[in-house]
Amino acid sequence: MSTGHQLRLYNSLGRRLEDFTPSAGVAGLYSCGPTVYSYPHLGNMRPYVFADTLRRALRWKGTAVRHVTNITDVGHAVADSDTGEDKLEVAAARERRSVEEISARYTEAFFADLAALNILPADEYPRATAYVKQMIEFAASLEEKGFTYLLPSGLYFDTSRSPGYGALAMMDVAGQREAARVDYVQGRRNKTDFALWRTEEPGVRRVMRWDSPWGWGAPGWHLECSVMSMGLLGEHFDIHTGGVDHRELHHVNEIAQSEAYLGDGRPWVRFWLHNEFLLMNAEKIAKSAGGGPRLADLTQAGYHPMAYRLFLLGGHYRSQLDFTTQAVDAAQATLRRLLTRIEPLRPLPEALTLRAARALLAAGDVGAGYGAGAGYGAHADKAAAGYVEQLDAAICADLATPKILATLQESLRDPEIGGDGLRVVAAAADALLGLRLSGLDPREADRRRSVRDLAPAQVAVIERLIAGRSRAREERDWPRADQIRAELESLGIQVTDTPAGTAWELR
Ligand code: AMP
Ligand code: ZN
Repeated sequence: MSTGHQLRLYNSLGRRLEDFTPSAGVAGLYSCGPTVYSYPHLGNMRPYVFADTLRRALRWKGTAVRHVTNITDVGHAVADSDTGEDKLEVAAARERRSVEEISARYTEAFFADLAALNILPADEYPRATAYVKQMIEFAASLEEKGFTYLLPSGLYFDTSRSPGYGALAMMDVAGQREAARVDYVQGRRNKTDFALWRTEEPGVRRVMRWDSPWGWGAPGWHLECSVMSMGLLGEHFDIHTGGVDHRELHHVNEIAQSEAYLGDGRPWVRFWLHNEFLLMNAEKIAKSAGGGPRLADLTQAGYHPMAYRLFLLGGHYRSQLDFTTQAVDAAQATLRRLLTRIEPLRPLPEALTLRAARALLAAGDVGAGYGAGAGYGAHADKAAAGYVEQLDAAICADLATPKILATLQESLRDPEIGGDGLRVVAAAADALLGLRLSGLDPREADRRRSVRDLAPAQVAVIERLIAGRSRAREERDWPRADQIRAELESLGIQVTDTPAGTAWELR
């Protein structure tokens, strides 16, 4: 049996779609994790839903994965610069807590969001503070090889010694220097040079500090990802993911120091994948800019975390997405429809791979109590098999999740497909989408106030107001019509005029 379509992924290194095959039996995957100095906002979670989709794609293709996501609990200076305070220390001072309390609190919040979003747990979540010794050894090795120079503010990596510096960013060195989001550092030789070690200024004692050959201080931000990924995945591995903002600076520097360290002339990591931003009002939601809506805000408003996941998957990971109430409402409605339609098909087989889906269809053995006697057996459900191949084509086309959703919806409407076949298609789609279609209760999944929750007397009041407004409109009494609309809005009722009449819903 064929292995289906060839998995193709968009490699930021070279900016093109490439065939992906793992270089060894287990694919190594590293995802840049959060800096745990505040609550993650909705945009912060997009990189992890994206990395989870990638993991599910690899599982579907039968590729074993070892996945590492780091927790940055030291080393990330405000404004991503080389000097200045550590983001965790600033948060600790602001909240009058210890840095340990800060990192514990926000790491826990991050894990809670990962779980709520049904993200498969990584194999390892290394913390930067547990790797400082290895970071010092790594930096010392670079120093020994002649890639560094020492300033009073720390040990710097000399980017002019790195032959392909900036290849990932696809800018020439002059462009890189201009684009580098770095502040002025006295004595720095090139604008793009970055700190491997940040030595304490005289008279300023950091809260988090370690002794090193370059004095007391703390590691630079980029160092941790090189050290922890190599420590846990081996010197070379297959895929590195992160938000698109990492493509021009953080990942460029990770590559420079890692390839200098390894010195074997091979690319350090083969595939670099980046997700685009989530926008709100056409701007990036930024944690550093003081908050942004959190997953908990959505769930408090009655949305299910899976509605947010579905909203994200409704866009391709390389497209910017605009977060609006209408969009998340639509996702919530779609989720509810999917669950209502799929509920009678349960139980669904879990964690399907392409191979297992095909085997189930061929054998007609779809799940406990199903399959037998359904005109099935050796007669594979042709329509279902067609949909499974479409799902495979979609995930292999650089993780085309919108296409997977469309295919699932089409299969659920298709009169040609049998119940057993549909069960396999729905399970296959959900193995890729991770929307918990096999278990969520459609009634539980939507806790927004709904029209059904209104008492009949309340509905009667609303209907009377709507009728009054319609009359006012017929009589062209616009001020009165507007006044009634305002009254309805103050009751939380949204009015929409359609050719068929006036519709209303709860906002
Ligand atoms: P921040 O704390 O705002 O610098 O964000 C931390 C990381 O989360 C960034 O490096 C991005 O990769 C990711 N991120 C932040 N904001 C967004 C967003 N609006 N959409 C997608 N990813 C984001
Ligand atoms: Zn990183």
